[in-house]
Amino acid sequence: MRVAFLGPPGAGKGTQARELAREWRVPHVATGDMLREAVAAGTPLGREAKRYMDAGVLVPDDVMVGLVGERLGQPDAARGFILDGFPRTLAQAEALARMLKDRGQELDRVLYFDVSEGELLRRLTGRRSCPVCQSTYHLVSAPPRRDAVCDNDGTPLVQRVDDREDTVRTRLRVYGEQTAPLLDYYRHRGLLTSVPAEGAIDTIRADIREAAGAA
Ligand code: AMP
Repeated sequence: MRVAFLGPPGAGKGTQARELAREWRVPHVATGDMLREAVAAGTPLGREAKRYMDAGVLVPDDVMVGLVGERLGQPDAARGFILDGFPRTLAQAEALARMLKDRGQELDRVLYFDVSEGELLRRLTGRRSCPVCQSTYHLVSAPPRRDAVCDNDGTPLVQRVDDREDTVRTRLRVYGEQTAPLLDYYRHRGLLTSVPAEGAIDTIRADIREAAGAA
C-alpha cells in the first residue's frame, strides 16, 4: 500500500491517515507533523522551516525532498506508507517518482480529498490540537470530552499559529497555486481518485478504503 493523500489544508488528510495507517500497518508520513516536531526540538531543520510555516508558505522543495527521502528509506516504509502533505509541488511529485523508481517502487494511488472552500475555513479556524500527541479536535464538530484539554493525555489544547484566519487564507492560496496542479499531474498518470471529504468521518474513511482498494 503506497498511497498519497492530496488536498487542501483542512481537508481531513491527517485525521484519516492516522487511523488508516494503523489499520493498514504502514507508517503515516506527515511532513507537516515532521516539521512541527523539528520546530519543537529546535533542530537546524526546525529553525529553518518555522519562518515558512508561520507565514503559511511552503518550505523549499530541496529540504522537503531530503526529509521524505530519508523517511521512506527507513525499514518500516518498505512495505508501504501513507504520504500526508507531500508532494505539494510538481518538483516534489517528480522527485518522489524518481525516489520510488530507484527502489523499484511506484505510487499505487493518489486520493484527492474534495472539500469546499467555505467548509475548509470553518474547519481550520476551529481546529485545536494536542502539542504532545498531535491528536486534533474541532471546537464545534469534534470537541474534547473535557474543556480544552486532550482526551488522551490531558494536555491543554493549542491552536496552530498557522490556523489563524489570515494565515489560513494564505495557505489556501498557496495550495491553489502550487499544489492544485498536482491533480492534473496524477490524473494524467491514471493514479488519481477523488473522494468527497465532507460529512461523517466514518463514511469518508469507508470511501477512502474502497478507493485505495482496501475495502
Ligand atoms: P500541514 O500540517 O501539512 O498543513 O503543513 C504545515 C506547514 O508545513 C505548511 O504550511 C508548510 O509550510 C509546511 N509543509 C508541510 N509539508 C510540506 C511540503 N510537502 N512542502 C513544503 N512545505 C510543507
